[in-house]
Amino acid sequence: MLTANEMLMKTEALKWVATLSDKQFAEFFYEATHGRDTSDIPDEGGHFVLADVARIESGWEINYIAVPQDYDEWIDDAPICQEGECAQCGSVVRSWAKDLVCPVCGTNGYGS
Ligand SMILES: [Zn+2]
Repeated sequence: MLTANEMLMKTEALKWVATLSDKQFAEFFYEATHGRDTSDIPDEGGHFVLADVARIESGWEINYIAVPQDYDEWIDDAPICQEGECAQCGSVVRSWAKDLVCPVCGTNGYGS
């Protein structure tokens, strides 16, 4: 249970997060969860990833949101529209940069 001060901080944090563009939110998410091990089994590599889903005819399409290989010079509201399939793990990934890093396996990839 949160204290009154923690509730205030949470409210302020939620207000701030609501102001972020999708790209800024993705960067914040990966910075906030970097190094967080979600598995109880050593070397399993459990970690959180950010995904975007959309309903399609056959069910749901899942795109894992990827960060760029190089963070230079991206505007805050760059669209997350570069899509590709990871050559290593087969995940469908999407980023604002063509040169991206698969958030599932960490392999450098390419979106178009
Ligand atoms: Zn991958």
